[in-house]
Amino acid sequence: MRIGAHVDATDPLGAAAARDAETVQFFLADPQGWKAPQPHPDADRLRGSDIDVYVHAPYVINVATLNNRIRIPSRKLLVTHATAAATVGAKGLIVHGGHVNAGDDLAVGIDNWRKTFAYAAKSGGFATPVLIENTAGGDNACARRFDNLARLWDAVGEFDVGFCLDTCHAHAGGEDLLDIVDRVKAITGRIDLIHANDSKDAFGSGRDRHDNLGNGKIDPELVVAAVRASGAPVVVETPGGVDGQRADIALLRGAGR
Ligand SMILES: [Zn+2]
Repeated sequence: MRIGAHVDATDPLGAAAARDAETVQFFLADPQGWKAPQPHPDADRLRGSDIDVYVHAPYVINVATLNNRIRIPSRKLLVTHATAAATVGAKGLIVHGGHVNAGDDLAVGIDNWRKTFAYAAKSGGFATPVLIENTAGGDNACARRFDNLARLWDAVGEFDVGFCLDTCHAHAGGEDLLDIVDRVKAITGRIDLIHANDSKDAFGSGRDRHDNLGNGKIDPELVVAAVRASGAPVVVETPGGVDGQRADIALLRGAGR
């Protein structure tokens, strides 16, 4: 199993070493902002390293929305990030599934996802594989509940789209972790990355607050079981800095032996 953590972008390889990590994930720009990513000073070293690199796209991206003033810049920023992620050798660009506003038709939002991949395909496709991540909240989300995820995959499946399963988001979103890998794979056929996080909040709460494994409301054995069943690389997006994340990684490794 290749396991690591979401870390600060300043020194990802140093952060990986401090955590005994084999995977590392970071942002290439402010996750709450629209600024384009800048070249990473460690790009050559990251590309040449044996650490698996993942980039998380900004949270503001919502390619599903019917609001043109969000959707159009979202689509452009996703393309820009995929290009920038390739310069650091990223294996995947993780982006949230997005949502439509209350009263808007989810079918249009899902078709906006299809158009996003069709738009990128016209210029040769995304420079880094895009992994759509399941989300925790909202009543009109494309990838919170798996009935909607199935509709999304019917629309985008032809484009070789990846999937990132977040255990906190599944739990808070109201999808049981028991046998979750089988249920996801029945829809997507693949899991490219696991975000192994505990949740501070109750099942179905819709809230997105990560916790260290065993500290929150999820039975850590269910997280371990999902990691093991998926066979996918793992990133913990948990608090507590080096010590907190080292402990989470150790828990996942120990249980995997
Ligand atoms: Zn996540």
